[in-house]
This record gives sequence, structure tokens and C-alpha cells, in this order.
Amino acid sequence: MAKTIIPAVRGMHDILPAATGLWQRVERAAHALFYRYGYREIRTPLVERLDLFERQLGESTDVVQKEMYAFTDSLNDEKLALRPEATVSTMRALLADGAHRAGVSRVWYGGAMFRHERPQKGRYRQFHQMGCEAVGSSDPLLETEQIILLARLWEELGIGERLKLTLNNLGDSAARARHRQLLQAYFYDSKKDWDELSRARLDKNPLRLLDDKNPEIQTLAAAAPLLAEQLDDDAKAHVQKVKDALVAHNIAFEEDPRLVRGLDYYNLTVFEWTLASEGSSQNAVCGGGRYDQLAETIGPHALAGCGFALGVERLVSLCMEAAEESKTALPPAPAADCYLAVLDADCYDYAFAVAEECRAAGIGVFYATGAQALGKQIKKCEALNIPLLLVVGSSEKQQNCITIKGLTSERAGTQQTAERAQLASVLQTLMNKS
Ligand code: AMP
Repeated sequence: MAKTIIPAVRGMHDILPAATGLWQRVERAAHALFYRYGYREIRTPLVERLDLFERQLGESTDVVQKEMYAFTDSLNDEKLALRPEATVSTMRALLADGAHRAGVSRVWYGGAMFRHERPQKGRYRQFHQMGCEAVGSSDPLLETEQIILLARLWEELGIGERLKLTLNNLGDSAARARHRQLLQAYFYDSKKDWDELSRARLDKNPLRLLDDKNPEIQTLAAAAPLLAEQLDDDAKAHVQKVKDALVAHNIAFEEDPRLVRGLDYYNLTVFEWTLASEGSSQNAVCGGGRYDQLAETIGPHALAGCGFALGVERLVSLCMEAAEESKTALPPAPAADCYLAVLDADCYDYAFAVAEECRAAGIGVFYATGAQALGKQIKKCEALNIPLLLVVGSSEKQQNCITIKGLTSERAGTQQTAERAQLASVLQTLMNKS
């Protein structure tokens, strides 16, 4: 028999019950906001054809070059990949569903993404994103609405102060083509000392050199020609509308002419929310922007759109830090409304039936199997953060009643007895009071 537990795959984590309560709160807050802005959920497969990502994310991007979980399904001899992000799949699904004929469509998604990055705090190989995509219009108010939605989400989660918004304008494809030529000329003489990836970038997508990790390239990039100098009036007017609307809605932002996103499909407005305090290398919590030409690279139809993706691990850990620092740390979510402790072995059937009656009335019951000393059961109940303890022993069974003990600080030490037929309504009254 194996003597050790087979470990999880490097960079892939379990999210244990002690943490899922906070995850659910964060997700519920986001889902409620998505609904308030008219977004409906979409679910796309975890596995797609490899060429979908290769073409759409950009062949010279890190995600495609180094981080893709690509494999051949030998049963069908198909080249497939685990999704590294969900915008491209979402666009594929919306186009297949005829979204190009449907006016504006707003959808949100949530789930696991896979990138073979070097794992460290805040950077994983399986991580989770939630995101929104709005397609069918090139109106700048669409991305403005998404930015305001995000600002609201940060406020509702109590982390508004901790994040800052940065914007840039990536212009249209003609501006990017002119800029690309200027960059190629600018970097050309230095490329002989570079690694293969950076050289390939110079060739295929020199814009990506602006966020290259090679320090020598970073120094050069600081003085490289700016895309801003190539933008035409339409592109400037588009992003100006976003900026004006953000000012009108009191959303603070900075502009960074060197902000390029890690994926190739963006144009015009791009934005990123990062930690306001410096000092963390994994400091991006959310990124997004417009991708008006993405649809045409997937199929025959044009479909303007914009969207964002936020990293759930980073968001949850930010919420946890904020709660700890403000001493309002959210207690872990309780496992149930009440814990049912059985004291004597002859009461199992009685207790089991009582638990079912409560559940039928909509009350969550954690039924501790096996009779154990009350002290032990109280400890377990507290560890599960359950506020009410139901006690059933021989005397309760004889009198057809249940003892209820309060365990949370405001109810500590309280005790009452409820007749079995009244139990659900007594519990409901107690639960509504807390
Ligand atoms: P991207 O799809 O690269 O624009 O990423 C959007 C967000 O997903 C980032 O701002 C991060 O919060 C999160 N994210 C991206 N890659 C990872 C990763 N490897 N581990 C954890 N979170 C990530």
C-alpha cells in the first residue's frame, strides 16, 4: 500500500472548505454585479482546439510560446489545449450562436484557466478567472461600463483603496503597423545579443518587447518610440470618451503609454487594475480592453467587443488581507445552520429523523454520526463555525424534544428546549435574530 499521499500537480492547488466560504462570497458579489449590468453567464469547454489559441492570442505571446498546456489527443489525432483564458472561446461560442446578428450581447464566465508559468505566490498553473465580454458595439461606453462595474465590485469587497486603474490607447491596426515599423528599426541593431523569444518578438510583434523581461530590453524600451504618436483622431476621440465618462463617475485612473496587455487581440482602450502599493511582482488583479478585430480572425463575421478578466486567487487574497488589517476579518462561513450532537447510542434513529425534519423546513443541519461526549462535540461545532448546537440524548428522545444551545459570542451559554414539532419554527426565529 502507498505510504505517502500522491501530491497535487505543481502549481495546481486545492481550495479547501476553510477557504471556499470567502471564495463564494467574492464570487456571489461579482455575480450579483454582473446581473445588475445585464450580463448573463456563458460556460465554454476547458479544452479547445490548439489552433484557436495559437492564432487568436498571438503566436509570439508568452502564453502561446511557453505556457500552453497543449497535447495531442491520440484517440482522434487532434491537437488540443487546456484553455489559458476564456475570451477567445467565448467569442467562438457567441459567433457560432449568431451574436453578430444580435445587437449587443453581454456575457460573463468564471472558471479554471491553465498556464505553464513558473509557480510563485499569486502565480499558479491552474488558476481561476471571472470575466465579462460585451460584443456587438464599438461604443466606448461599453468598456466604460465595465470599468465602473469593476470599481463598484472593489468598493463592495472593501478593497477600493488598494487598487489603481491604468489606461492606454492601442489605436487601430494602421497605427500599430506604423508603430511596429518604428520599433523594428529602433531595436534592430541590439537584437544580436537577445534570446530567441525576444528576437521572434521583434520580428512578429515588437510591441510585446515593451513588456519583455530582459533588463537590457527594458532599458531600451524606456526610450522607444511611442504608439501614442501614431494615433489618429478617431482613436484619440474614442479613448477620450472613456476618460471623460470615468471622470464624470469619479473613477480615478492613470495613463501609461507603455501599457501593453499580454495577449495580441486588443485595440483602442486597454486597462489594468493593479495593487496601489508597490512591492509585489504579481500585482495585476484584473485586465481588459477592446478587441474589435478578434471576431474576424476566428470566422467570417465582424463583431466589435470588449471585456476583462480578473484573477480570483489574487482577489480573494486581497480581500483576506484587507479584512485582517481592518480587524473585521470575516469569520469562515459556517458549515451549516446547526450541529446535531447525539449523546446516547439509542437515539440515532430519533436524531436522524429530527435532522431530516429540519432540512425539509430549509434549515441546514450538520449531523455528527456516532455518540460522543458533549465537550468534544462542542469543540467540533465551534471549529465548523456553526452557531447553534442541537443536543439529543435519551431524555430528549423520551420527552420528544430537543435541547438547543447557542454558541456564538452573543448567544454563548444560552439554552432552551423545543418540542420536536416546534423545532423548525424555533430555529427559524433564532436564525432570523442573528
Ligand atoms: P490576463 O488573462 O493575462 O489578462 O490575466 C487577467 C488576470 O488573471 C490577471 O490580472 C491576474 O489577476 C490573473 N492571472 C493571470 N495569470 C495568472 C496566474 N498564472 N496565476 C494566478 N492568476 C493569474
